[in-house]
Formats: sequence, C-alpha cells, structure tokens
Amino acid sequence: MSIKNAFFVVLFYEKQANKILDSTKTQIPRITLKLKPSSLQQYCYKHLIVSILMLIILPLYSAAQLNTSYTPIEAKGTIPERFFQGMKGTTEIKIIVEDERIRKKQSKDFKTTTRFTLQEIFLSGSIYYNDPCTQYVRQVANQLLQHLPESPDISVFVSRFVTSNAAVWQDGTLILNIGLLAQLENEAQLAFVLAHEIGHHQSGHPFRQYVRTQKLSNIQKRALDNLKANVAYTKKSEEEADAFALDLLAKAGYDTEAVSQTLDLLVHGRHDSPENLLARLSPTVVVCNEMERQTLFNTGENTKSHFTPTMIRQRQEQLSGSLSGQSFLVSEEDFVHINNIARFELIENAYREADYVLSLLHALLLQEFYPANTYLTDKIAENLFQLYLYEQRGQLKSLLNLNLENDIRLKGYHQISCSLRKMDEPALRQLTENYLQQQYQVHQESSGTIAIIMAKYMELVYGQKKARPYFENYLEHFKGGKHYWYAKNRFE
Ligand SMILES: [Zn+2]
Repeated sequence: MSIKNAFFVVLFYEKQANKILDSTKTQIPRITLKLKPSSLQQYCYKHLIVSILMLIILPLYSAAQLNTSYTPIEAKGTIPERFFQGMKGTTEIKIIVEDERIRKKQSKDFKTTTRFTLQEIFLSGSIYYNDPCTQYVRQVANQLLQHLPESPDISVFVSRFVTSNAAVWQDGTLILNIGLLAQLENEAQLAFVLAHEIGHHQSGHPFRQYVRTQKLSNIQKRALDNLKANVAYTKKSEEEADAFALDLLAKAGYDTEAVSQTLDLLVHGRHDSPENLLARLSPTVVVCNEMERQTLFNTGENTKSHFTPTMIRQRQEQLSGSLSGQSFLVSEEDFVHINNIARFELIENAYREADYVLSLLHALLLQEFYPANTYLTDKIAENLFQLYLYEQRGQLKSLLNLNLENDIRLKGYHQISCSLRKMDEPALRQLTENYLQQQYQVHQESSGTIAIIMAKYMELVYGQKKARPYFENYLEHFKGGKHYWYAKNRFE
C-alpha cells in the first residue's frame, strides 16, 4: 500500500465515522433529549475515532511498506492559497532598527524583495504541501511557539532542497530543507533547528542583514542561496539565535543536549560510513585513500557555519544540571516514520537535482535497513547509469565539481566523489554493468526501471542491435509502463 492509499484509508474512515455520527444524530432525539450529545462531545467523539484509527493504521502500513518499496511524494490536492501570496499579504513586518530614517527608506524596498523571493520559491515547485512531513514539523514548531509570550506569526514549510539547512523570512515564513530533516536523530534536534530560526525572526535579523549589506540583488539571491548553501548571518546574529533557541528548548521541555548533537550533525553528518560504499557494488571500484580524499576536499571546520558550536557548549554547561528535558514531546513513532520518509525523499530529490553522488550515497546507506526495498535497487541503477552517461560524454568531472556547491560535508560523499574522479571510463563502465547485470537477472520482469535502464545501457555501449532483446523484454512485461512509448519508438 502506498502513502497516498493510506491517507485515503484514513479519509475513508473519517467519512465512515461521520456517517455513524450522522445516523446517531437523527435517531437520538426520538429516544430522549437528555441523551443528545452536545456538538463539542460529537466533535471529540468523531476525532477520537479518527485519531485511534490513524494510530493503528499508519505505523502498521508504513513499516511494512518501506520494507518492500517507496512511492515518492508528488504534489496533490489543492495548492494552499499561501503559495500565491509571496510574502504574507496583510502581515505587518516587525522591524527593529535604531535609525528611523533608514527604517522608512529601506523597509519598503525590503518588503518588495521579500515578496518577490518568497513568491519565486513557492511557485518553483520546491515546497511540499498536503504531505506528512510538513504536518509533523508544524506540530513540533507548535510545541515551541506556545512557550513564547506573544506567540509570533510563524508559518512552517518543508522544501525539497537537499542541503542541511533552514531559513526564516521577516514575515515569519520558515522553510526547513528535507535534507536537514533526513539528517536529524530526534525531535529535540528538530526543535533546536526551528527554535534557532525563530530566534533570527524574533531579533529581526533578516532585515538587519539587508540594511547591512544594502544590496538588493544579494537579498534576492539570498532566498535560494540560504536554503541551498550554508550562507549565514553575522557571528553575533548566529550567537543570538543559538542563545534564544537554547532557552526556548529548555522552556518547552526538550533535552538541551540536542543542541550540541545537532551542531555535530551539521558538521559531520549522521548517515555516514567509514567503508567505501561503492566497493560493495563491485570489486573493480577504485578506492581513494585518506590523503587523496583530503586533498580534493577541504574537510576542515566550516567557517560559514550557520551555528556557533563553541559558544553553545559554554551556554549549555550553564544550563545543564538544572534541567532535564525530553528527546520527544510530540511522538517518537511519528518522528521515526517522518525521518525515514525524509531519507527516501532526499534520495529522490537529489536525483532530480542531478546530484547523483548524494542520491547514490543515501540509497546505499538506507539499503542496509531496507535490503529488499525495490525503490532503492532501482535508484542505485538509475544513478549509476546517469554517472556513466556523463563520463561517456566527458562531462563527469564538471558535474562533480558543480555539485560540490551543495556543500555536502559527508565523508561518504567525498569518498564516492573521489573514487569517480579516479576511475576511467572502462572502470566505471564495468561497475555500472556489473550492477545492472545482477539486478537484471532478478528484476527483469518485475522492475520497469531496471528493464529500461538495462536496455538503454546496452544501446549506449553495444549498439541498437544488441539492445533490441532488452527493449523487447520491456515491451513484453511492462505494457502501459512509464517508458512504454520510448521503448516502442526505438524500433519504428
Ligand atoms: Zn542562523
């Protein structure tokens, strides 16, 4: 059962619950007026049924489903009105700047550019909606917001961007990247990231940064830069946001240990592995040694970091001892489920962004937990094929350099990237062919992706004649498949 189906099941049960309630509503007055439930009771009853059903259905379906396959989240349902507004239309932006003349002159320009950049992001198709990730992240944000004296107008969204980052705008729009959600280990860490961004918002940092840099074009670029790379505010602003986050976490009852854990994650990454993962696929893989890897990539401390490790450790020591918080306040089960979905989404989005190294790395890492998941075997095949295709065209090195701008700081990422640079065309061809042959033996009649990639690979390397039986295999077993007309057109 896919995610989509599970939600339909929940909707179905909600409809059933409504039907039951509708029928009781018409019958009750005939018995006695005293028994007629109040609308509040009805409301609670209805939602209790739905909540219980969701608690039973969701975990059962999700654990079983991820073992065998995964269906990426697609845009579905009504697009929220917010997406067309750019900046929230009526919201008065709280701006704290000492000089009144600067405030008047620049706040108008600032609002215009904020509106423009947000509109651009929302209409780019990079923001999830009607999805389980956003729903969960908002619940965690609410745990924090209720502890602020004047609950600020913060709207939380999750983006498809793969870098470990989040950003906030002065109108209260807070966007968390799926790449960051996939890296986190518990709810308290997620709460810290959200609290840090709320801190920037509360201190008016987006506008201050604007006033400081005074560059309209920079700010326009910043919207995407900040989400895609590690562009930070000034050190002072980051310290302010971290201090704010630490206090808010303590107030909400979250474990403040999560703060330094998160900072470590952002530097080293969680899902990392010391072994060379590519070597798992084929013995012919060229492995880089530590020296080669370090020469290629600057693995030192990130100077542009959005967070301030040293300062936070000092403050944390002052706080700890007096407080002991929780790692989960909303739900551990929901976190684990959402975190898994985020990891699958990261693989999908990295592939769509043509960062095949990142997509491949996470597919290989996740395969340790879901060895029988066919989405993962398919995605590994697709990534290897794309990498080989670039190599064959002589463009692999430029692609790898381009993707370094994503600032992925995982050792495993550097290892794969380094191996690919060292391998020549025959070596990469052998790696790709080994994997495709293995998978084709098992999945030629069950996976349309494996079947079509194998056909395309054979055509690319050995020509149309040799590829023909592979295209025929696809046409025979995947009538109505995604690549049916492509495969059919190869011979007409
Ligand atoms: Zn920050």
